[in-house]
Parts: sequence; C-alpha cells; structure tokens
Amino acid sequence: MAAPEREICSTSELLDIFHNEDLTWDWFHMVFFKGEVFVCKKCRRRMTIQMNDKNYRYWNCSHCKIKKSVLDGTVFSKSKIGLGKTLRTLLLQWVGISINNTAELIGINRNTVAFWASVLRVVCMKIWNSKQIHIGGKGKIVEIDEAVWRRRKCRRGRRKEQIWLFGGVERLDGGGAGPRFVIIVPNRTKETLLPIILEYIKPETIIMSDEWKAYEC
Ligand SMILES: [Zn+2]
Repeated sequence: MAAPEREICSTSELLDIFHNEDLTWDWFHMVFFKGEVFVCKKCRRRMTIQMNDKNYRYWNCSHCKIKKSVLDGTVFSKSKIGLGKTLRTLLLQWVGISINNTAELIGINRNTVAFWASVLRVVCMKIWNSKQIHIGGKGKIVEIDEAVWRRRKCRRGRRKEQIWLFGGVERLDGGGAGPRFVIIVPNRTKETLLPIILEYIKPETIIMSDEWKAYEC
C-alpha cells in the first residue's frame, strides 16, 4: 500500500502512516517533492532513493557516488528522533494536544516537543505571510500593532521568555479587516520595526498605530 497522493487524510490515518517508517518516507516524498526523481547535479543521471542502516533515506548517484539526504533543505533535516516520530509530534501539536501529553504519547523529551511546536508556529506564519505580503497601498489605511507573548522558560522557573509579535492589518473601505501579516520580532525598537514596515506595507499607505502617530510611508 502506498501513501495516498493529494488526498486529505484524517488525523488517525496520518498517525497510522507515520507509525510505519516505509509509508512515512513514501508520504514525505509525495507531499514534499510531489514524487519527483532527483537528477545528479554533476552527471545529470537520475538518482535513486536508498536507505542507510538508521532507516534514513538518501538520494544516490551510482555513477558519481554522490549522496544527498532526502531531508536536505527541509526543516526535518534538524530532526534527531526520526521522520515518523517528528511527524507524529507535529501532528499532535497541530491538533492541540499539550506538550506533556505529546511527549508521553510519542515517548520523547518535552524539550523536543517544544522545539517542534515552535517550528510549527514559524512554518505556519511563513505560509500565512507568503500568501499575504505587501498590504495597503495609496490612500489605504493599515493599522500596525505589537503584542507580547510570554511563556515560562522552564517548568518551575519564574523566568519568562518574552516573544514579541508585530503585525499590520489593512482596513477595508467598508470598515472591516483585510489582508494582514504577523511576524516574530526580536524587540520593538523603531530600528527593528521600520524595515519590516517598508518590506510588508506598500508605499503611500496611511499607517495608524496606538504608539506611533499616523504618518505616510
Ligand atoms: Zn552523478
């Protein structure tokens, strides 16, 4: 049985797939690379997928002996727990299972779950922003705002990590909210925020902010 292509699977179907290493790799290849076969950069021959002793798949050119991990260039290249466990972790985080319960269900460390949860947030924001970048325009109003998102750094510790979010939303003519962007920023200084405004908001937009006076960008 091959992993289904372009078919939306339910959470339990995906969990079944990610419990089986072979199906997981087939699924990954279909979803991330559309089943495409890589060509060797050096000799232009088609590469084949092979498996190492740790069950990781890599592209191999039998002519040049060049090897390249299937995970290269994806967020999963950082994973140390295997592709199946990583995908199951992401899936449980996606459906809202707590970090503690995810760690227990998958049998991994809480910190590892927290790491993949943060990857998931960043990826979601990138996808969102890639679809709705460059908002506003001549005579349009964009409201910008900052928000802080605090989370405890370690379980018993009192230290809290501050994560600053900065975003903008275009005000539609009818008064509703239009396209927007939200990104994580290291701080809220003008030096940090101005380049972001210039990148995300079109020229000649009227920018409104509680903190900053309205001005034309
Ligand atoms: Zn080659």
